[in-house]
Amino acid sequence: MIIKRILIFCLACTFFTPLSSQVKVRVFSDTSPLSALLTVDEGEYLLDAGYGKSSRIRRGELVFISRAGNRLAVKIHNGKIFLCDSLYLSGSADNSRFSLREGENSAGWRRYDGDLKCIPDLGSLLLINICDADSYISGVVMAEGGPGRHPAYLKTQAVIARTYMYRHMNRHLSDGFNLCDNIHCQAFKGITTDPIVQEASISTRNEVIAGPDSALIIAAFHSNCGGETVCAGDVWLTPQPYLTRITDPHCLNSRNALWRKSITLTDWINYLIKSGCDKKNIVSGLLNFSQKTRLTDYKAGDFSMPLKQIRDHFGLRSTFFSVAVEGDSVILKGRGYGHGVGLCQEGAIEMALKGFSYRQIIGFYYPGVKILGINEAKPVEKPPL
Ligand SMILES: [Zn+2]
Ligand SMILES: [Zn+2]
Repeated sequence: MIIKRILIFCLACTFFTPLSSQVKVRVFSDTSPLSALLTVDEGEYLLDAGYGKSSRIRRGELVFISRAGNRLAVKIHNGKIFLCDSLYLSGSADNSRFSLREGENSAGWRRYDGDLKCIPDLGSLLLINICDADSYISGVVMAEGGPGRHPAYLKTQAVIARTYMYRHMNRHLSDGFNLCDNIHCQAFKGITTDPIVQEASISTRNEVIAGPDSALIIAAFHSNCGGETVCAGDVWLTPQPYLTRITDPHCLNSRNALWRKSITLTDWINYLIKSGCDKKNIVSGLLNFSQKTRLTDYKAGDFSMPLKQIRDHFGLRSTFFSVAVEGDSVILKGRGYGHGVGLCQEGAIEMALKGFSYRQIIGFYYPGVKILGINEAKPVEKPPL
């Protein structure tokens, strides 16, 4: 009887246990530091260097970590340097926090909570922060959305960041962590103490965006769509029903709504000829080109090339531009900033200011989706690239 009850309890735990509320994030992943300096801000940490060597690190104490061949050299506050193969710092309380910087960058302190693992990796230090998902999400919202925004907009960014986090939990699994902290995954420059950003994460806890089949969506976003978003299939290889073209009246007066760029006529024509265009087409249509609604190609006569290719070559803000000649220059007048797929951040900011809820904002930019608790969503089957 007792065994049966234990078995039922275990099965119930397996079924109802929520997905991990912790995430392992590689920090300082874009700079591959050779050394790092850590100081404890709150609580106390236990430093475990393996082979039974451990130390307590109290508030205000410093730990200096650097590469020493294939090992780590560690100095705790004023103690002696010792060598080890790996290091694990675990917080002794829920509110344990530390600050970390690259050894060489005295201005670059970032704050983290949770634990820190450090191992040598290909000539640098691999620093992995094992942290609470809520504080990770608020850190991402701070890095991607910025401070001082309306709560409904911050909640929108929080649900997007959480959807991305769960969809890509396996992305770096073979490297020993879940996500990196730069834009390859999501920007995360440490935790934030901004209460409105923290609240955006906590009040949407566990919420993710799913398609009609309950699978987590690709929650693409960009700065400004210029009044019309782009179908995913026009930019990437795979179309998605929720990443479709929508008309956006909300972002038209925002900071990145319009842009202008001047290129010399000679440079423009040389670029087109190098791209396979003959002069007849240049004169007939390409120098007087406009887009009332978004087009995918720049074409005249029998010449055509993807607008995306021109955007990449000249570093343009978007593919949504017109072409006209003024004197010996080509003037590009453009709309929007970014790839244009999915949520338009400046439109979402305006919608929040107009009184729309985060659910309405998400429903507007990703038509046909639903917001679910992560345990109601379809598990991610294989690591997306
Ligand atoms: Zn990454
Ligand atoms: Zn827009």
